[in-house]
Order: sequence, then structure tokens, then C-alpha cells
Amino acid sequence: MKIIHSPRHLGHSGHVELMNGQVVPAFEKPERVAMILRAVGERQLGPFVDPQAHGLDPVLKVHDADFIRFLSTAWELWTADGRDFPALPSFWKAPGMRSIEPESIDGKLGHFSFDAGCCMVAGTWDAVQAGADIALTGVDLISSGEKAAFALCRPPGHHAHAGTMGGYCFVNNAAVAAQSFIDRGAARVAILDVDYHHGNGTQSIFYARPDVLVCNIHADPMQEFPYFLGYADEPGEGPGEGFNANFPLRWGTDYEGWGAALDAACARIEAHAPDVMLVSLGVDTYKDDPISQFKLDSPDYLKIGARIAKLARPTLFVMEGGYAVEAIGTNVANTLEGFEQG
Ligand SMILES: [Zn+2]
Repeated sequence: MKIIHSPRHLGHSGHVELMNGQVVPAFEKPERVAMILRAVGERQLGPFVDPQAHGLDPVLKVHDADFIRFLSTAWELWTADGRDFPALPSFWKAPGMRSIEPESIDGKLGHFSFDAGCCMVAGTWDAVQAGADIALTGVDLISSGEKAAFALCRPPGHHAHAGTMGGYCFVNNAAVAAQSFIDRGAARVAILDVDYHHGNGTQSIFYARPDVLVCNIHADPMQEFPYFLGYADEPGEGPGEGFNANFPLRWGTDYEGWGAALDAACARIEAHAPDVMLVSLGVDTYKDDPISQFKLDSPDYLKIGARIAKLARPTLFVMEGGYAVEAIGTNVANTLEGFEQG
């Protein structure tokens, strides 16, 4: 399976996050990719492929133009104020307030975010663009006949809405790729999001559409981020009704419960009969993940890959979360190996 990767993600480093009331170094850090590269290399799961530049047009198919303009200029505006430290949002609008993009960079950061999870540094925008190109190069490969590919995107994407960043995510790489498949002639696409956290951005982008089925298996938002989306009673709306499926699970869920949800999600995907599928691959379901509360163990990821392979569809894996750095490589490699052997 070809693995698309770029070192440009390294520019997104040295950033912080607000965690349980404290500013701490971000859990979403460059070492994650280094560990994945090492593990997939040791298993000879490649070859590695460089991304091709695709420009911003395919990104603008799912993201608002004013949001992308903000992302591309935010660091310049932040440092114009004389600040030489990472940019972190800290103001948000409440229901009843107006949705206005202020002139002030602090106001803009709040306007275009839903949490303090998207800290920006000098190289963030370049890393984000590289991530989108990695996902789109995966679309190129699948469209030219590859059975599967792995887009090693960083930062992740599934929390990013059309006009809002959050949860470490700036551009929604999986959504950009899904739209690109549609634009290249796919009639039906399915996105299976197996990250520990609900993919609120992906759900939101396709919520009113019947062409892209979105299935999420994730921690119950009653207990876990993103809290305000990802419940079981969100079936899609309008023409998209019936094309969104959430499988929220309680803290402490192990593979027995998680695997049952995967079977149910796979049944939904089979009924959709997609021309192609995307897997938003987060491995923060792992038992020792520092910010998560599921109990999957490393061998379980082999089973996940094998189950996805049984769907027998052209499949693009897109990297999302996973913060147990010492195990992230093993868990990602196990998923891909389980798929290849499945
Ligand atoms: Zn996650």
C-alpha cells in the first residue's frame, strides 16, 4: 500500500493547548509521524510517495473562502502585533451574539474556532496545506486504480468544519478527499471515522447530503469532547437524512463493544454500496492513550484492518488522532497490515 508523506508537517511544532485549565505542550506533536514512519517502514508496508501540489481549489470545495483566507494570514496578523509566541484562541461567541469577523486577530481567532485546540505557529499553514495535498494525492492513487493508500496527514482534520477549526484540526483532509472523489465521478462515497473522538467536522460538512455516508464510532459526547455533536439521534437532514450514523460508546469500552459497533457501521456502509471509501484513522482508542478512555489493545487494530478489508472497496486511509506516541506506530501499522492480509 502506497503511503503518502511529507516532512512539511514538521513546521507545525512547538505549539500548546489548553488542557483542563492549564496551558501545556500540545499532545498533537511531530513525533507522532516519526513513530508511524518507523513502524510502517519496519513492516515494509510502503512504498513512500511524495504528495503532489493540488492548490486550494479542492480545499475550497468544502471550506469557506473567508476561513481559508484567515488560515493563510493568521500568523502574519498575530506577529504584526509584536507577539513572538504561538497563537491560541481564547474568545468565542455565545448563542445570541453576532457572527461577525472582527478586525482584531484575537477576535478572528475566536470567530473561526470552537475551542483552544488549534494553536498556530509560523509553519502551521504550510503543514496544513501539505496535509490536504497528501490526502488529495491519495485520491489520485485510488482514482488511478490502486486498491488502497494511506495518507499520513498531520495535523489531523476530522474536527474541522467548513468555516471553523478546532480539536487540532484546521482543514478537513478526509472531507476534502471525499469531495474530490465525487468531483472525479464517484456517485457514492462512505467515510468510516474510527478515531476515539467524534468527527464533528466531517459530519457537519456532509450532513445534508445523500452522496457521502458518514459513520462515526467514538466516545459518547455526554462524557467526551467534542461534547456538542456526535449523539446517536443525528441521522442527517433533508436529502442527507439516513446518510449519517453515530455509534457513541461509553468510557472504558474494549474491543468487544467497539467491534460490535464496527460491524454495525460496516453493515451501513455495505447498504450504501460506495464506489470508494475513506477511513478517518485515529488510534486514540488505544488503552494507554493519554487523552482517551477506551481500552483497545494493539492486536485489536489487526482485526479493525481485516474487518474494513472485508468491505472490498477501494479504500483511502487518512490519518487523524492517536497520542500514545510509543504505541502509535504499532497500532497504525497493525491496522494497515490487517487490511492488507484481510
Ligand atoms: Zn481523536
